[in-house]
Amino acid sequence: MIPKSHPRYESLMARELIVEGVRKGITSTQGLIAQGRGEAFDYLIGEKTTESALRAEKVAAAKLLLAKKPVISVNGNAAALVGFELIRLSELVNAPLEVNLFHRTEERVNKIMGHLRSLGAKNLVTKNDALIPGLEHDRAKVDRDGIFAADVVLVPLEDGDRCKALVGMGKTVIAIDLNPLSRTAQCATITIVDNIIRAVPNISKFAEELKELEQEQLKDIVMGYDNKQTLSLAIEEINKNLISFIGRS
Ligand code: ATP
Ligand code: MG
Repeated sequence: MIPKSHPRYESLMARELIVEGVRKGITSTQGLIAQGRGEAFDYLIGEKTTESALRAEKVAAAKLLLAKKPVISVNGNAAALVGFELIRLSELVNAPLEVNLFHRTEERVNKIMGHLRSLGAKNLVTKNDALIPGLEHDRAKVDRDGIFAADVVLVPLEDGDRCKALVGMGKTVIAIDLNPLSRTAQCATITIVDNIIRAVPNISKFAEELKELEQEQLKDIVMGYDNKQTLSLAIEEINKNLISFIGRS
């Protein structure tokens, strides 16, 4: 049992969830490494939602509400860390959940779907009858009526190649990635440089607030959004934090 008073409580709890995910067979062992990389960047960003990330989260919520066919992609880390919160967001913006894995096995896909169903998910797309062009077979498998047909895809923790391929298909890709330098962060349409644990509830909170707005008002929120600026601001934040550390040691 990790005491709440532990200075690294949240990070340790996230590790527990990922380890538990591996034990249940929903998270890949490589997912442990991905979480470690994310944690390192979270440290540098100050383990908080920055102002620029919050803005990206609001724009993401507006985009999801404006979408004709939004889909939320779920991998093993996302299912372990924020399964329940993703279901809530899926309901708020009326976007089905689709399990889409880098290290894909049908067994793990089924385990993740079972996990999401046990948490109450009803809106799942489950076929793998289409391929994202330009990727080798397993990573490319998607549902023809899900990610393949979507106009807006939320991809928490996506791989760079697949993010690029989805953008290449003309989709709006919203990525959640703590590393502003990753290929995913660089190629997504909207990059949320924040921990998935903070980002998903924040997007849901905005979706709840913005739900009643007219389309034109939602478009105003999205208009003028500049992802290059979001990434620059994230890097500046890291820079600022590093410089403040120089003074302390
Ligand atoms: P890319 O393929 O985009 O170049 P990568 O190969 O460096 O990235 P991957 O292993 O493909 O990384 O994906 C993991 C990404 O997810 C990393 O960029 C990491 O920072 C990020 N990440 C891991 N855990 C979290 C988390 N809890 N919240 C947000 N981002 C995370
Ligand atoms: Mg990668």
